[in-house]
Amino acid sequence: MANEIETRLIHDGEPRTEGAVGIPIFQSSTFLTRGDEASYDAIRYIRLNNTPNHVALHAKLASIEGAEAALVTASGMAAITTSLLAVAGGGHVLAQKVLYGGTHDFFTGEARKLGIEVDFIDADDPSTWSAKLRPETKAIYVETMSNPLLDVADHDAVVRFAREHRLVSLIDNTFASPINFRPIEHGYDLSLHSATKYLNGHDDIVAGVVIGSRDRVHDVLHLLNHLGGTLDPHACFLLHRGLKTLALRVRQQNANALALARFLATHPAVKQVNYPGLESHPRHARARELFAGFGGMLSFEVDGGAAAAERFLSRIRIALRAPSLGGVETLVSRPAAMSHIGMTEKDRAAIGLSDALLRVSVGIEHERDLIDDFAQAL
Ligand code: PLP
Repeated sequence: MANEIETRLIHDGEPRTEGAVGIPIFQSSTFLTRGDEASYDAIRYIRLNNTPNHVALHAKLASIEGAEAALVTASGMAAITTSLLAVAGGGHVLAQKVLYGGTHDFFTGEARKLGIEVDFIDADDPSTWSAKLRPETKAIYVETMSNPLLDVADHDAVVRFAREHRLVSLIDNTFASPINFRPIEHGYDLSLHSATKYLNGHDDIVAGVVIGSRDRVHDVLHLLNHLGGTLDPHACFLLHRGLKTLALRVRQQNANALALARFLATHPAVKQVNYPGLESHPRHARARELFAGFGGMLSFEVDGGAAAAERFLSRIRIALRAPSLGGVETLVSRPAAMSHIGMTEKDRAAIGLSDALLRVSVGIEHERDLIDDFAQAL
């Protein structure tokens, strides 16, 4: 009934069991049967993703991305790998060439063993995609913004191409969150998240999300029920609670990241800043058209190479040196030594990832304190 996402985050998917305003944790692996379960998936059992905590969370998540259905999983990678296997098992996928390291490694490693062939595409150059199609191509896979350079793929072209060639379009929407971009409303078939990041927002659980039509989500659910990558009810509860403040957190992160990016862009010790909210970003116009906000992720390159970047990391006092992203604390990492350490220096250079690049997940601290901290560390 509520139209605005802020209201839906608070009030949708709230069973108000026993009049409880906050949802309780139903920490029970099994439930009394009614004897009329229509299928295996309907038997109430934690692994089958249908406890009261799961059901409520699924309703809230579907509502906030404007979709029919949603499913939570044990991690972002469980959401990604289970969805890919459900959609493209025994087939071929076109995947964006710059992806989160875990997803990229899955495509180049286990996916082939599990029966998924992949060809990588430049998600910015639709004219090159058709040449890579095969009769068995089933899906196209992209991320909303690339990590760590924050490039923005041509999402309208991805959706058009998928429809034209009857492919399932999948997008990892982790970096944007539903506050900044809602893929299903833009025509994507499946929107995936590492809910470890913005959706939960407090750096205290690992979880994943799959969002889409009832039929597609059901296919993923059925496979997940067999693979067993289920989220525990206690983690469901924490994610449910974290979601309520998503809009407030992400808007603050959008504002802080823009302020920090503008500061860094004028600093003499900074060579380059990558943030889609800066007018100088090559995809600024596209980001402005597609997104409600530019997000809390940015990266920047310091003068003086890896040694200078390490010096910066040793000097920050408020921001924390840690991997992961999307929480209320500002986290900084050096991708060449962290998320992209598995790539050769040559491969990193080929995608424009310098050893002096620092990635920032901007939190909700006061922007003045963050800017002061970065200024003294630089
Ligand atoms: N997608 C993106 C964009 C990520 O950054 C990550 C983790 O860093 C993942 C997926 C994987 O999520 P998880 O660690 O929850 O499995």
